This record gives sequence, structure tokens and C-alpha cells, in this order.
Amino acid sequence: FYIKTMEFLQQLNIGPENAGTSTGGKWLPSGAPAIASFSPVDGKRIATVTATDKAGYEAVITAARQAFIEWRTWPSPRRGEVVRQIGEALRQNKQALGRLVSYEMGKSLQEGLGEVQEMIDICDLAVGLSRQLNGLTMHSERPAHRMYEQWHPLGVVGIISAFNFPVAVWSWNSMIAWVCGNTCVWKPSEKTPLCALACQHIVAAVFKANNVPEGVCGLVTGDREIGEWLAADTRIPLISATGSTRMGKAVGTAVASRLGKSLLELGGNNAIIISADADLNIAIPGAVFGAVGTAGQRCTTTRRLIIHDAVYDSVKDKLTAAYGQLSIGDPLNEQNHVGPLIDTDAVKAYQMAIAAGKQQGCRFLVEGEVLAGDGFESGCYVRPCIAEADPAYPIVAQETFAPILYLLRYKTLDEAIAIQNGVPQGLSSSIMTLNLREAEQFLSVAGSDCGIANVNIGTSGAEIGGAFGGEKETGGGRESGSDAWKAYMRRQTNTINYSTQLPLAQGIKFNL
Ligand code: NAD
Repeated sequence: FYIKTMEFLQQLNIGPENAGTSTGGKWLPSGAPAIASFSPVDGKRIATVTATDKAGYEAVITAARQAFIEWRTWPSPRRGEVVRQIGEALRQNKQALGRLVSYEMGKSLQEGLGEVQEMIDICDLAVGLSRQLNGLTMHSERPAHRMYEQWHPLGVVGIISAFNFPVAVWSWNSMIAWVCGNTCVWKPSEKTPLCALACQHIVAAVFKANNVPEGVCGLVTGDREIGEWLAADTRIPLISATGSTRMGKAVGTAVASRLGKSLLELGGNNAIIISADADLNIAIPGAVFGAVGTAGQRCTTTRRLIIHDAVYDSVKDKLTAAYGQLSIGDPLNEQNHVGPLIDTDAVKAYQMAIAAGKQQGCRFLVEGEVLAGDGFESGCYVRPCIAEADPAYPIVAQETFAPILYLLRYKTLDEAIAIQNGVPQGLSSSIMTLNLREAEQFLSVAGSDCGIANVNIGTSGAEIGGAFGGEKETGGGRESGSDAWKAYMRRQTNTINYSTQLPLAQGIKFNL
């Protein structure tokens, strides 16, 4: 596996030491220190990538601004054709890129491949969209006047992404932003720079073959400081940032202070309500996959189960039994259900949350632990755990990016919905019930306050066709399908007078 990953990197000219700054056409040197990428799978150092320095940053932004002048004039279906070819290139590289995602980030191979599939799907969606960036026409109140609206691109879009979806989140943003006519500058997570380099190489080759102007796909690498440069940069009309709520508050404030636009996709604290009328054959696997998939490192991971009193004990027993069957280990081995956390800092956060939970009153049904010994040398493997808790415990309201599941008990649906909504985050939610009234109440205006609300499926694993995002501390942004493309464009309202008079709106008279 390791050898195959290295071969793929070599094919893309990614060696042990790499530049991390690119205008799309050129890779730029940098005086900044290199970032080493370690695999959480086996702890091996894979390669290094040089962080972007100020000169490189300026070169990338300048190229992105210049490229916009030409790129915006390309008919959008022609831009869509280029994105279609990116989708084809991703299809050809699906296995290799999926493997790299698994190896660098630590998610299972199935999920790594799924992430690349999601990129392919968003390319397809963007190609169709390139012929559907439609505005409305309106009836003017004045005779011989026409009113309509049109959508124009914004300019340079800055994309800041998180480690847990190292490639898909960038593609959700860039493929849509590109067909809309924008140029993009991507700052990937400093924890997964090689996935970004691989994408940059794949896209740059397609762009070159299509004579796309240099600068349409810019890449800058580094930690939060580079993200701060983007957030403060008045030349970047839109910052799309995915990551923690802490990061979103900083980015959102910086962008708002210059009256730029921001699209924020931040932390979640997602719950499943398991009703007395739930089909437990669906509810239990849905909850377990949601809680332990990607080792609890999805923004949509199930962190809370709100269980009706009548089925609480039986759900508890079934869950405990299911957790007993989980195999933890190398995510590239398809027999394993749970891979590693991203790094040892994440392991410390997991341990601290367990300690805080115990201090606040959590009763652990399945104890957590850090695994050591053969196969766990990276120090990043932990045991998914389950705790009985009370919604009032502060730890339950926090997003700990690890597989810790809290069980909460309820008696009435109103109470369950209040518990579900009673956290600062508002990303994903679901109810497991066969009762139509309960399902409809959960989806109603008095139901879930989240951006995503599901019935009889879990909280994680969204499809790209819908708009993805959440409310409250999740940041309010929407990406991917539906009309999320509008965030990447500016709306212009046009009124055209083809009469010989100049009638004023609202019947106002102005006689000269
Ligand atoms: P993070 O906030 O530590 O980092 C995310 C990105 O932001 C990185 O590229 C980082 O360098 C950059 N960054 C950090 N601080 C910054 C600042 N002050 N200014 C500018 N840039 C800054 O998050 P992470 O640990 O990589 O990812 C996990 C978090 O991301 C979780 O909270 C998860 O829920 C969230 N997430 C949300 C979504 C969503 O769609 N809502 C999707 C994936 C991940």
C-alpha cells in the first residue's frame, strides 16, 4: 500500500521534498520552512511541502486576479467542459488518489474512494450547472421597460479547508466557483498537504491542455497564518472556510471587517433521536456508522443519541454489543471498521474530553482508551466509547473531534427536540421513527434547527445534490448542490428602457 502510494506521488512528480506554492502553471520556491506530512496510519513521514512565503503569496494572488480578466469572458459551458475533463481525470486517478487520502488522513480506503467519488459527482453537477446559472426576469411597472437579473462571477475565491475531507471540500468549492467564472486560491489543511499537491497536479494538467489562463487554480500552503492572509486580503471578495468554529469566528470577523463575503462550514454536534417507534434494525447500524465512521472525525459525525425511555435499555444493550464487535486498526485493511485519529494532538483532545466527561458525571458503558502495541505504533488509534450523560453536562454541548458518543434519555418528542436543538452547533440531525406524525414534527418549523434534518438515515454521509451546511455556530454557509452556486456570484438587476419617454419608478414626476 505504502509503495503504491509512493508510486502515485512519483507519477505526479511529488518527491520527498516539494514546493507548496503554485499559480497553476508554475511551482514557486519559498524561503518559508517546510511542513512534514506524517501518516497517522503507521506514523511514517511521507514527504515535506514548503510553506508559502509572502512573495509566493503575492505571485499567486496576482496571477489569480489577472487570470480572472480572461476566464470570466469564457462562456460558462466552455468552462464546464474543462470541469468535465477534470472529472474524467479524477475517474482515472480514483484508486490512487483515494488511497493517498486514506494514507495521509487515516480514513478507511472505502471512505477515501468515496471522497474521490464525491469530487467526480460535483464535477458532473458543475458541468450541468454551467448551462443553468439562471437569473429571473421581472415585469416592469413602466411601459416599454424590461427588467431582469443576471449573475456575474465575483473574482478570486479563497478556499480554506480542513484535514478531515482533504480533497472533497475543495472540489465542492472550486468546481462550482470555476464554472461560475471565478478563479480560486486554495489553502489546504497543513495536516494533509500532499492530497492538495496531488489535486493541483491533476487539475493543472487539464487546464494546460485546455489553454486555461495561468492563475485560475492557485495553491498556497501553510498553517493558520496563511489563512489569515487570505481572510484579510481585500483583493479576495469571497472566502469559503471549512473547519472549527474557533477558526470560523476568526475568519468571519476578519472578512466582515472589510465587508467581504464569507461562506463558513464549521463544527457540528449532531444527534439522532431514536423514538419508541424506531426500526432498530436501521437505527443501530445508522448510529454506529455515524459515531465511529472516520473515527468520529466528520463534521456530521453522530455525537449524541437521544433515546426514548421505552427503548433506552434495549438500544443501550444493542449498541454496547455492536461496539464490542468493532475492529480497530489500519484503515487500508478492509476488515477494520475504525482507523486512527489524525494526530497525537487529536488523541490528547479525546483523552481530555473523556476526563472532563467523567468529572461532570458521564457513566461510560464502553470505556475509551489509546491503543498501543503492534499496528498502533503511530499512537493515533483510540477505542470508540459510549457514555450515558445528561444534556446539561458542558462536555455534551462541545464538539470533540473523536469517537465519543453520549446517550441521553427522553420521554416526549418536544423534550427530545429541545435537547437536539439545545447545543450551539446546528449542522446535521435525524430521527429514527416509523411514526409519520413524529417525523413531520421533527421536520416542521418547530422541529430540528439544523441545516440538515433526516428521517430514518443517520447524520453523516450527505449527497452532493442538496445544499450542505448548518446554522448557529456551524456558520450558516451552504455549499455543493441546490442553489448554493449563488454564493459564488454577484447578482445584478438590470432595467432597460426601450421607449421614447423617461417614466420614473413609483410614478414620480420630474418636469424639466
Ligand atoms: P481547523 O479549524 O483547525 O483548521 C481548518 C483550516 O483553517 C486549516 O486550513 C487551518 O490552517 C485554517 N485556520 C485555522 N485557524 C485559522 C485562522 N484563525 N484564520 C485562517 N485560517 C485558519 O479545523 P480542522 O481540525 O482541520 O478540521 C476539523 C473541524 O472542521 C471540525 O470542527 C469539523 O466539524 C469542521 N468541519 C466542518 C465541515 C462542514 O462542512 N461544516 C466539514 C469538514 C470539517
